[in-house]
Amino acid sequence: MTTIRLPTAGPPGTVLGTAPDVGESADAYRAAGGYGVHTTPGELLAHLTASGLRGRGGAGFPAAVKLRSVRDNGDRGGRDAPGGRPVVVANGEEGEPGSAKDRWLLRARPHLVLDGLARAAAITGAARGFVYLSDPAAGESVRRALAEHPPPLPVEVVETDHTYVAGEETAVVRRIDGGPALPAAKPPRPFERGVGGAPTLVSNVETLARIALTAARPDLRTDIARGTLVTLSGGPAGPVLTEVPYGVPLRALAARHGIPDAAGALMGGLFGGLVDARALDLPLEPDALGAADTALGCGAIRFLAPDGCPVTCAADAAAHLTAESARQCGVCVSGTSAVGDALYALAAGTAGPDTADRLDRWSRGLRGRGACGLLDAAAGIAGSLLRAFPGQVRSHLAAPCPLCAAAAPAEGTRRLTVAAPQVAGPPTAAAPVLPPEPLPARPPLPLPEPLPALKGTP
Ligand code: SF4
Repeated sequence: MTTIRLPTAGPPGTVLGTAPDVGESADAYRAAGGYGVHTTPGELLAHLTASGLRGRGGAGFPAAVKLRSVRDNGDRGGRDAPGGRPVVVANGEEGEPGSAKDRWLLRARPHLVLDGLARAAAITGAARGFVYLSDPAAGESVRRALAEHPPPLPVEVVETDHTYVAGEETAVVRRIDGGPALPAAKPPRPFERGVGGAPTLVSNVETLARIALTAARPDLRTDIARGTLVTLSGGPAGPVLTEVPYGVPLRALAARHGIPDAAGALMGGLFGGLVDARALDLPLEPDALGAADTALGCGAIRFLAPDGCPVTCAADAAAHLTAESARQCGVCVSGTSAVGDALYALAAGTAGPDTADRLDRWSRGLRGRGACGLLDAAAGIAGSLLRAFPGQVRSHLAAPCPLCAAAAPAEGTRRLTVAAPQVAGPPTAAAPVLPPEPLPARPPLPLPEPLPALKGTP
């Protein structure tokens, strides 16, 4: 596991708009306008609809649509229906190994997340809330924040073991209901029947933070909806968490991360698959990336060094997924490990001549057949390797690769994992939540400030 650098503080009104290495206190958050009444729930939902805010957990679903679905299902069932009034869940369990944003957010800005959770509860008519996580430091931070500023509805912290699938929305519901943190068959989805049978909003913590910021400054809604936290790794100085606006070219991010001549990237954690160097001209924007057959996902991007081997990277990713399979869907048990074995053989120089054909067949045939996205991620890794790096696949079939031999793919199951930065406590400082004036229009494609020096390890 590599250590991630602490994020740079962003300007006020952004998710990183606070001192990066200290937890934010309730007093500081309140003094700067947090927890204030700036909009009604109906107005806030209208602002979120207009802003087009998308969920930041990976799927990128429109936040307003999800909120409205939970609210409407609550209304349809009646407030005294068997499942009861809606439930809201702040999902801070980030399973993608390259992501650290959710843990950082809960450790450093718990009030921003809890404020967003309360706003989501007001919109949906929820009677109960949960914060779902596995990181002990994040749990401590959230409990302290709940004691500092009790929310307007009962909110409970539910902890789980950290796995790739524990943050999947049906796994979240099962764990909160006392079961295992494993995905369930869908439908029903949680917005229809979730915790205790009630319509349930399972929302990523960064999404909730952006809802709170929108509530505080709806005039900035477009900026708020079009900024995103990204966890960058693969650069010479190690991983870093920062915040960027949509539209920044991937190549510019790679350059700022110290790899201007990156050979490609592993996108969206593991979910967006591999892209080659030409794809780095794409803007960091969900639709543009989706049209290019990749994904922003949770915002974790691992750049490939110019002399890096995409086959090693794919083998590492598949090994991680094989190790993390919940092994409850037969097709996932056999399919994910088959992809992993084939990619390992390719990296080890022992693949047979039909390996590429088999990977191609699995990349198309396995999608959508598991109860969660893990199998899709494995299929996507295989398919994207064949699409983006056909020459390297051919050369690995012809002769063993010295880079793969040096990288020992059999031991690579955790090589893609980054750790969240430590946040000092108790909370003491904060920057304003509300800037005194609306922020000026953004210049085209601004980049984060130069990255800070390395600080501490978790
Ligand atoms: S697809 Fe795999 S990881 Fe997902 S629920 Fe099924 S067995 Fe578990």
